[in-house]
Amino acid sequence: MTQQKTRALNLRIPGPTPVPPDILAAVGRPMINHRGKEFAGIVERISERLKDFFLTSQDVMVLSCSGTGGLEAAVVNTLSPGDKVLAVSIGAFGERFATIAEKYGADITMLPYEWGQPARADDVRHALKVDPQITAVLVTHNETSTGVTNALAQIAEVVREFDKLLLVDAVSSLGAIPLEMDAWGLDCVVTGSQKGWMVPPGLAFAALSERGWQAYETSKMPRFYFDLGKHRDAQAKGQTPFTPAMSIFFGLDVALERMAEEGLESIFARHKRIGALTRDGVKRLGLELLCTDERFASDTVTAVKCPEGIEVSAVRNAMEDNYNIILAGGQGKLSGKIFRIGHLGLCEEDDITQTLEALGETLAKLGFKR
Ligand SMILES: *Cc1c(COP(=O)(O)O)cnc(C)c1O
Repeated sequence: MTQQKTRALNLRIPGPTPVPPDILAAVGRPMINHRGKEFAGIVERISERLKDFFLTSQDVMVLSCSGTGGLEAAVVNTLSPGDKVLAVSIGAFGERFATIAEKYGADITMLPYEWGQPARADDVRHALKVDPQITAVLVTHNETSTGVTNALAQIAEVVREFDKLLLVDAVSSLGAIPLEMDAWGLDCVVTGSQKGWMVPPGLAFAALSERGWQAYETSKMPRFYFDLGKHRDAQAKGQTPFTPAMSIFFGLDVALERMAEEGLESIFARHKRIGALTRDGVKRLGLELLCTDERFASDTVTAVKCPEGIEVSAVRNAMEDNYNIILAGGQGKLSGKIFRIGHLGLCEEDDITQTLEALGETLAKLGFKR
């Protein structure tokens, strides 16, 4: 039985994120010819604007798939079966990236960390020193499953020292927190439409550096739909190689205009402010963050340890039923242990204040004593 909700939905999961009404309206517009002039204009505008967010002079390709498809594209366009690959993993998405490469025949060396901890650049240096055969490094910029942001610029510096390829999962960071593809020397960067971009799920964006395109030329992993060369060539003509998720392109076109208006620096500042507001509020309620070293705490998602004796499901259900606020649970081994508050994309102070207030009341009702 669905109860009448008196409050507007406050979707506080780390993707899909809320979509503002003007973008939703754009998503709902009638279809046009995907090989026609008008759509070509949209493709050109989007790919140009995305460069400003990736901070790259390279082409940014727009793929019709979820973020994971983008990660698969990163792997199959740059690596070959048998390649030795270092997979830096600080959580569920780090493991997923490694699994994709492994499925395509890469020879994976894991550099795993306890979930909730960031990776250390020195460990990456050590791993690359120990095994000079390693040709590429996989890393998650912002680990959505643990609420931890890696020091990507430092890790990238080490990977550059050793002149290896660096493939980056930036699905829940790009467009929300700082990432500089060209300046940091990242070779492949991937993100997804439903995270920081305020559009529905359905698109992944991927860019390759010059070195990345060189790797593409010699890479032998099988690829068809995700062949980035085909996407690059089609995009040069204002097209995509296959029928794109046009509705999401319509939405993205409006979203990027909105984001350009707010400005990159303002967007970063807003996420930083809201991240700190969330963490301070959570601690004020007497709760603990999963990420113990707050220098690495994510400004797009906060993972909170669920207090002893209280079920994560009880917290999430009560938040939804009584306040229409949706929180995320834990993934993998953190399932039942943490809940997560998403604060990326469309998110203002009020959304977080409301969430924290409701969370305090909910925990009190569930018998939490601080
Ligand atoms: C959401 C997410 C993904 C996967 O994206 P899907 O769109 O669900 O395939 C990958 N990596 C990170 C860090 C994410 O947050």
